[in-house]
Amino acid sequence: MSDRYGRLYVVATPIGNLADFSDRAVDTLRNVDLIAAEDTRHVKTLLQHYAITTRVISLHQHNEEHIAPRLIEKMQQGLFIALVSDAGTPLVNDPGMPLVKLSHEQGITVSPIPGACALITALSAAGLPTNRFCFEGFLPRTSSARKTFFTEQLKEPRTWIFYESSHRILACLDDMASLFPAETEVVIAREITKLHEVIVKSRLDKILEVVTNDPNMQKGEFVVMVEGTKIDQGDQDLTEEQIQILKILLSECSTKTATSIAAQITGVRKKVFYQAALALKKP
Ligand code: SAM
Repeated sequence: MSDRYGRLYVVATPIGNLADFSDRAVDTLRNVDLIAAEDTRHVKTLLQHYAITTRVISLHQHNEEHIAPRLIEKMQQGLFIALVSDAGTPLVNDPGMPLVKLSHEQGITVSPIPGACALITALSAAGLPTNRFCFEGFLPRTSSARKTFFTEQLKEPRTWIFYESSHRILACLDDMASLFPAETEVVIAREITKLHEVIVKSRLDKILEVVTNDPNMQKGEFVVMVEGTKIDQGDQDLTEEQIQILKILLSECSTKTATSIAAQITGVRKKVFYQAALALKKP
């Protein structure tokens, strides 16, 4: 890594409330040589609000493969560049991956300036387990592809999170309700940090009712969070390792044999493995 190289700052921007921008983020955008922004017009509101006059160039999903090498050259010549997207954290369902990847490959320091990220902001207020969770980005657009996805998610034990647009939120919840138990705990975070912020936590059937009956609940931006499926382990908890053993055995032999062998290996009762096997096999 050359001392004369510049640096890439990955700067998170607010997801609705302009006040959610740190002093360090403002200083960074003021002091870099160039800001690479997803939409040069969109970022102007933020820059004007903070009286930032740094030059802005456009880097979006359609030109980033082409622009990234040019920005690398500039940083190799000593320029400091900030990457921003329209809202939230760059690279999280937003452009920037080629530039960050190439920067690492070319020995350029990549420095994050943390700030808002819709999924983390929503999760912090959801009251669902946060010790383990997974993020699924945007779901497929067609109902049949969504249903295939939801069928896989029936086995997901972690809290899972996705982004959804106002055009599809109702259809998406409808598809989900056709496959998931009505009592599945769901949290919808709509327009977070904005004037019309709403966070609703309820059973899936109630959430669907709320969104169906309130046209306002079909507008804006959404993060949807779902509780993980509880694997019924009878009166005894299975460890992750024991579940892993069971999964491997189930992939090789019948449920009966798998549960019997798992019980012999671990000393846990066969019945407990049998119930876990049924839960794992749920479509
Ligand atoms: N990079 C962004 C981030 O860090 O969250 C995400 C960009 S992605 C293109 C935009 C999606 O994020 C929206 O469609 C919505 O699902 C979610 N989102 C962004 N801002 C939001 C907000 N204020 N309230 C709820 N969801 C939001």
